[in-house]
Amino acid sequence: MKRLWLSFIPVFIILYPHAYGQEDIVNKGLQVITTDALKAQLGFLASDWTEGRMAGEKGEYIASDYIASMLQLYEIKAGGDYLKGRSLSPSVQNQERSYFQNFGIIKSEVGNNNIFKLKTTTGGTTIIAEFANSIDFTVNQTYLPIEIEAPVVFVGYGIKNDKLKYNDFAETDLKGKFILRISVTPLFVSESLKPDEILAASRETESLLREMGIAGIIECTPGVVKTVSPEINEFMTPDPSEESPLPYSLPNPRYSLPGKTISGDIIRITVSERTANEILKGTGVTIQDYVSKAESKHNLPKPQLTGKSVYIKTDIKTTQVAVRNVIGLIEGEKTDEIIVIGAHYDHMGMRNGYIWNGSDDNASGCVGVLTLARAITSTGIKPEKTIIFAFWTSEEEGLLGSRYFVKNLSYPLKNIKMNLNFDMISRYISEDNQKGVDLTYTKSCALFRDCTEENLKRYGIDLIVNYKPSDDPPGGTDHRSFVEAGIPIMRFKPGHREEYHTPADEVSTADWDIMEKIIRISFANIWELANTSW
Ligand SMILES: [Zn+2]
Repeated sequence: MKRLWLSFIPVFIILYPHAYGQEDIVNKGLQVITTDALKAQLGFLASDWTEGRMAGEKGEYIASDYIASMLQLYEIKAGGDYLKGRSLSPSVQNQERSYFQNFGIIKSEVGNNNIFKLKTTTGGTTIIAEFANSIDFTVNQTYLPIEIEAPVVFVGYGIKNDKLKYNDFAETDLKGKFILRISVTPLFVSESLKPDEILAASRETESLLREMGIAGIIECTPGVVKTVSPEINEFMTPDPSEESPLPYSLPNPRYSLPGKTISGDIIRITVSERTANEILKGTGVTIQDYVSKAESKHNLPKPQLTGKSVYIKTDIKTTQVAVRNVIGLIEGEKTDEIIVIGAHYDHMGMRNGYIWNGSDDNASGCVGVLTLARAITSTGIKPEKTIIFAFWTSEEEGLLGSRYFVKNLSYPLKNIKMNLNFDMISRYISEDNQKGVDLTYTKSCALFRDCTEENLKRYGIDLIVNYKPSDDPPGGTDHRSFVEAGIPIMRFKPGHREEYHTPADEVSTADWDIMEKIIRISFANIWELANTSW
């Protein structure tokens, strides 16, 4: 009799999970959220082996294989593409899924065969000067190849600001013309405006130029003799201790999803001071002259560039890059109510001997999602709602992985009840604000705040949360793909620090305490949200 009774217990648990206290179940999951578990996973994901996890490159593939292996280890089912090809077992023919959602993105980058010419016509004679790519000029445009010839106008610093009563565009009709401008902030501006006012002024100028319908912008920084920094030779490769600040900016290809319309931004060319002076030749003014005079006398008259036009032909290389999201899932009692827990796993790659390890951005978020997956299966109980664990590719290129996911669902969009996004969860906001973390969430879901407040108390998690409800939750990461699709979101976010988007974003700078607390409160919340009706 006794033995028979014991053998019934597991059946009892499966049928009546709620007979056990929810707190006991949550505590069981919380037990696996330990600093050691976080260190073990982050240590590999943000190591040099994954080479900065650049979208479509080897390091990113290694990282995605690691994530898929961990999902399998944590008994999370594969939720990616259906495997093609023959299976030995007829019952799983074309039904088994992989952990990967494969797709292609378009990469556009500037090639080496760009042409930049200056045409000067005086008295019926035209002189053509041709400049050297990457030395005299650089094309900073990565859309479609363009061929254009248009007059050029000098606009000084190219600034318009009402507060300073200053306008470089006052007397000129710029429609269909190139503008040549000096791309530094002069002292009279930096002394009178605050940094955010300067930023706002430059944004206003950009949209003003767009409205005017200019042909393109030619920019010159005084003192620049060569427009592209030389690649570092092998014997000059810096010690990859990665302690030093960013040596050069990363190359700037543009990535997009195949179906997306290519937005025609204003073409932008950087020129050396020598090239700019060639354009100004014959006016009696040089870049240096203008800069030194402008310091004492603002609104300087602009030299007229009569008979001068610029010809530009750009060389844009377009290729397709194969990328993949990693998708795992726990099928709940209800398959038509889904919670998507996501984090991007890509980062910025490597260059010139430096690796952008992206430990905080965003190996930390991936470790968060992996650890949550493990905590959920550790309860041994099937949740009510279905939970998807998603690891996005190509976030750094414009949220391409999460956008692709949202647009390619095999079920109605309304089945997704919410998205919890994790991006950069291993840094406190600042040294003097040690405990604070923002919780951005969809305003109509007051429940997200209520359950956070309750669970922090119930499970003794010592975390100060600044609640940031919004009808249109802001931010530049993957939750935006869900916000734009009308899906409620929730996102814990501590701070940006100086390592952000530099090779110094390494595991050694992780703050394990905040990371662990964010994952603990997220687990308690997910368990509640996945097992209650709302
Ligand atoms: Zn990120």
